[in-house]
Amino acid sequence: MAELPDKTTAFIDWYLEVVEAADLTDKRYGVKGMNIWTPYGFVARRNLDRVIVQEIEATGSKPVEFPALIAANEFAKEKEHIKGFDAEVFWVTKGGLSELDVPLVLRPTSETAMYPVFALWVRSHRDLPLNVYQIVNVFRYETKTTRPFLRVREIHFFEEHTCQAGEPEATERVRSNLGAFARMAAAYALPYLALRRPDWDKFPGAHYSVAFDIPVGGARTLQIGSVHHYRQNFSEPYGIRYETADGRQELVHQTTFGLSERLLGAIVAVHGDSKGVVFPPSIAPYEAVIVPIPESGGGEGPLAAARALYERLHEAGRRVFLDDGEERPGAKYYHWEVRGVPLRLEVGRREVASRRATAVDRLGQKSAVAFDSAPQDVTSRLEAFDRALQERAREAFRAAFAVARSLDELPKSSKVRLVSWCGREECGHRVEAALDGSLLGEPEEGLPFEVESPGPCIACGETRDARWALAGRPL
Ligand SMILES: [Zn+2]
Repeated sequence: MAELPDKTTAFIDWYLEVVEAADLTDKRYGVKGMNIWTPYGFVARRNLDRVIVQEIEATGSKPVEFPALIAANEFAKEKEHIKGFDAEVFWVTKGGLSELDVPLVLRPTSETAMYPVFALWVRSHRDLPLNVYQIVNVFRYETKTTRPFLRVREIHFFEEHTCQAGEPEATERVRSNLGAFARMAAAYALPYLALRRPDWDKFPGAHYSVAFDIPVGGARTLQIGSVHHYRQNFSEPYGIRYETADGRQELVHQTTFGLSERLLGAIVAVHGDSKGVVFPPSIAPYEAVIVPIPESGGGEGPLAAARALYERLHEAGRRVFLDDGEERPGAKYYHWEVRGVPLRLEVGRREVASRRATAVDRLGQKSAVAFDSAPQDVTSRLEAFDRALQERAREAFRAAFAVARSLDELPKSSKVRLVSWCGREECGHRVEAALDGSLLGEPEEGLPFEVESPGPCIACGETRDARWALAGRPL
């Protein structure tokens, strides 16, 4: 098989080839921007979702599932929201042969599906908080170039929607979501920045938005999720009111939290290398693959030992695959490296004699796994691999940023830029124009690396109110 393009100099080409070489997706479906989840990609996604479900339910959120179609009149109730999504919704206008009386929208996100119903569910302060989430497909008519997992028209989507009694409770829910995402990202070994988007770039209808961004392929950035505070911007048009303990009627404050299949794209983008995908153990479809190395004399020793090792690990609940196919061991190594399996266990004549499999992790670290204590040994090998992967990702993350002191410097940079900004919109737009990119916003929880104090605003030179902001070119 041909070599992959160079990840550093040809990131997009590398990405497009690696997701197919690793068998995560099949792009040959007959509708643009809609791809097929192959069995291997599907299991990776399911493991990724499992982390999301575990962390969000730990914060008291409950699962729901709303219909995919939304009546046009409900969709149009919040003015900013409809303006933001108007150009990218799919419409259903016919039922059989007849035109529908009320056209339907395929959900691009579910505010307008859920909130008329929230108005029925929320009656009293005792019904609050209402914290619910769903993992469904949403549809957006993307006009830009589509790319598997990163920009598609049918999107695998996690969305939490909440109703809170007041603004402080909603702000607290935003905090709680930021904490939940930090735990998810740790499981995916993904360093990221939580950035408060500038006003002109917030979610349509939001009071404010905090987005999670990662650096990818040099100066580019990728938004991998977001949390929004809506205040009463939606509860007012949708009439979501409750009775307070002393009998008053109040509108709820709302928040949302959104993640998508982009997370899988981000994991590929951040951890992948010249050999293919590298999965963190938490979401790898197989944590380990066992490759028997047959004896030249045709003896059954290695194969029988590999089978016994498989049984032992499988019974211990490990996600393990026994590759006892006809191909030569070298071809199997290559096959599973491209697919990012964290640990390979080789069982040949020598291993049978010593009762220890040779273990090679996806970063090339060699060790051994004893047959008699295989589950424990595999656990400790995977933990060591995860630590090494986290460290490698953190190092690359730290190296991806640099301070820019003048507008002229911005377009020349191969890094994501930290800029001093006075906070004025006009200066933000000047940064965006100079970079041909976006002012991504201010760090919501500080910067995860050491940096000096911000100087004068990069655009106007004003030192008052200067703060750090990130500027990059979203992929
Ligand atoms: Zn300024």
